[in-house]
Amino acid sequence: MARVYNFSAGPATLPEEVLKTAASELVEYGDSGQSVMEMSHRSKEYQAIIDECESLFREVMSIPDNYRVLFLQGGASLQFAMVPLNLAKKGRADFAITGQWAKKARAEAAKFIDCNVVSSSEDKTFSYIPKFDESKFDKDADYFHICMNNTIYGTYFHQLPNTGDVPLVADISSCILSEPIDVSKFGVLYAGAQKNIGPAGLTVVIVREDLIGNAREGTPTMLDYKTHADNGSMFNTPPTYAIYMCKLVLAWIKSKGGLSAMAEHNKKKAAILYDFLDNSKLFKGTVEKDSRSLMNVPFVTGDADLDKKFIERCTENGLVNLKGHRSVGGMRASIYNAMPIKGVEKLVEIMKEFEAENI
Ligand SMILES: *Cc1c(COP(=O)(O)O)cnc(C)c1O
Repeated sequence: MARVYNFSAGPATLPEEVLKTAASELVEYGDSGQSVMEMSHRSKEYQAIIDECESLFREVMSIPDNYRVLFLQGGASLQFAMVPLNLAKKGRADFAITGQWAKKARAEAAKFIDCNVVSSSEDKTFSYIPKFDESKFDKDADYFHICMNNTIYGTYFHQLPNTGDVPLVADISSCILSEPIDVSKFGVLYAGAQKNIGPAGLTVVIVREDLIGNAREGTPTMLDYKTHADNGSMFNTPPTYAIYMCKLVLAWIKSKGGLSAMAEHNKKKAAILYDFLDNSKLFKGTVEKDSRSLMNVPFVTGDADLDKKFIERCTENGLVNLKGHRSVGGMRASIYNAMPIKGVEKLVEIMKEFEAENI
């Protein structure tokens, strides 16, 4: 067996130890006589799995007691609609436009409410996080939306906007669990699982209690946070196996020392790559230094044919999915928690080799 180093933006690489544990429990979980996939979600065994998953989430992310953790479906993309449906009392919200996902969140919300764009980095292909002019903030907005880590462009909010009493809502799909985060600064945090939590099919929503129960009239039952909060994420069948995998990933993170250890590991990995990019004569990072993401690192040679050749070279060497998003081209290395340091070292080794041959 030869596992590759998978730099995919999502679905993404998972810790090998977790996959092995899952494999060992695949056919029979504990002494239940069945696979987790086959269990009733109403069974005692399954209830213990989802309870442990939630309690690990709370522990690992230090989630305060006045927040609920919901295990939903529909991806981060469904949250683009659920957030306005649940939070909009007055019918207006502020948006920072820092990439495709932020744009999509705004476009979906605009179906229901008035959206005010407070800043955008579209003028330079989203290669930086724009500065905020607080005088542009709507003090009476129902919420303020950001996409904290811009998966496609490789930018990250190192500083949060100061929104005062307006709940800050963040799409953290591609940075959740990558470093400690002060949950109390947010009204809602949401993430599709397939980047840094587990397999696709699960969406995690962390929502402050007072923001639950205010859905606008006509909101479908399944899109109301209250439905899921009142039913322990079991109003209907939850994505049972994805939640089980998430539990294993959280236990793995905890065993490694939690989010501060993850942050240290991720900073080390990103530094290896950024240091090389900053000194390379062939490769160039595309993001302004103070906006760089630890999770997604886009770079180019400046020559589309060379980019293509480089990606082929990587694939031949067991480094896969380095092609940049179709909207930006070039390369992108997604280096989530489960990417080992060795994977990044190998990538830089190939980059050095390729550089020597092509300059
Ligand atoms: C991947 C991604 C999405 C889309 O997630 P789905 O779960 O496919 O809907 C949204 N936002 C960000 C930041 C992402 O990285």
